[in-house]
Amino acid sequence: MKATEKPPDWRSIEAELLRALPLVAARADRLDQSPEQTGGDLAEDLDLLARIGLFAAALPSGDGGLGLGLGYSAQATLWTATVLRRLGRANLSVARLFEGHLNALKLIDLHAAPATRRRLVRRAAAGAVFGIWGAEGATPARLHPHGDGSYRLSGAKAFASGLGLVDVAVITVRRPNDAAEVQLVAIDAGDRDRQQPEQWTAAAMRATRSGGFVLDDMVATVADFVGGPNDYLLEPHFEGGIWRYCAAHVGGAEALVEALRRSLIASGRASDVHQLDRLARAAARCEAGRRLVEAAAVKVEASRGGTRGEIDAAVAHALVTREVVEEACVAVLNLVERSLGVRAHVAGSSIERQRRDLGLYLRQAAPDAKLQQAGRLIAGAAAVIGEQW
Ligand SMILES: Cc1cc2nc3c(=O)[nH]c(=O)nc-3n(C[C@H](O)[C@H](O)[C@H](O)COP(=O)(O)OP(=O)(O)OC[C@H]3O[C@@H](n4cnc5c(N)ncnc54)[C@H](O)[C@@H]3O)c2cc1C
Repeated sequence: MKATEKPPDWRSIEAELLRALPLVAARADRLDQSPEQTGGDLAEDLDLLARIGLFAAALPSGDGGLGLGLGYSAQATLWTATVLRRLGRANLSVARLFEGHLNALKLIDLHAAPATRRRLVRRAAAGAVFGIWGAEGATPARLHPHGDGSYRLSGAKAFASGLGLVDVAVITVRRPNDAAEVQLVAIDAGDRDRQQPEQWTAAAMRATRSGGFVLDDMVATVADFVGGPNDYLLEPHFEGGIWRYCAAHVGGAEALVEALRRSLIASGRASDVHQLDRLARAAARCEAGRRLVEAAAVKVEASRGGTRGEIDAAVAHALVTREVVEEACVAVLNLVERSLGVRAHVAGSSIERQRRDLGLYLRQAAPDAKLQQAGRLIAGAAAVIGEQW
């Protein structure tokens, strides 16, 4: 549990965040291993973020927070994009967990029935860390009615980030009467016996403590449901919300450019024309990515409650932003590798871990389908692209 000790005030949170981020970044290399090897996990970083008021800021404004991530105002949305980018720059794993927390709270704020919303927001205010676990394990998550208004869960979630760190997970489950219907359910995520961190065999983002989570024989009631069938898929929040992880990705690319800059200076290679050319091109990719993400974030959140056309345009904007940010990050990875040669690959170095983490975190769900969806929305748009966007 993360104590949210401070009443939120954005100026002081931002100032303290800037002081905290070097500490988060300094720990990142050590946490790129199993907890047995490091003797620690991201709990220390999450506690630090809670102490400076970042978790409290993520609460709805009517519940003592600033609505960070909830899209109430363009200003709060830009703060959110900036926070995720800066966290990504310090440690992409921390950004991944905070992004999941924001996403879960947003789904609760948008869709939960009043009593459920009150209960879950109270848990967040008391310091619970939230996550959103959508990806399915070998046996997809299912709801089975007991007949008394309660449900038994079966199956498992995969790629579940924050095992042992997340207290409450909002999960997607298939409904009993219609496997095509997705129901969001809030579950307690703390049962160690259900956690399968050994399933994370990927060579990066290790500090996220991601893996499987077994649901078999857990019990849920309607009071644990977050909204109704398929609310999870409502736009502009579902595809549109990808701007949040894009912000973190841009931060990861910025960290690499900064590492490149320092390395070139330290090795006396910063005046070489080829190196300067690559450094400038990498920095340009980051700047373009940052601006696109901020524009997409504001557009997506502002389209809430808008016309179908406005929502479609915002979602298309987010989807093409995802594509361009991925291309920008891959370009930065290539430019950094070309510039540093073998030094970019030295095991145990920060830059090697940063490259690995960004390269993996870019691999988010269904990129081909997202690009196709962008194409469909653009093809069906009523107005000239540049005008409508
Ligand atoms: C660090 C990290 C943390 C994560 N944390 C979470 C979390 O907390 N909660 C959560 O729910 N998920 C999480 N995920 C999972 C994430 O959302 C994606 O589900 C996952 O990364 C997709 O992996 P993949 O690229 O191997 O998928 P794949 O779906 O296998 O995609 C690989 C490629 O195949 C293509 N493809 C996909 N389907 C098909 C098809 N049917 N036919 C042909 N081609 C296809 C894709 O477009 C892509 O090009 C996390 C992932 C990472 C990397």
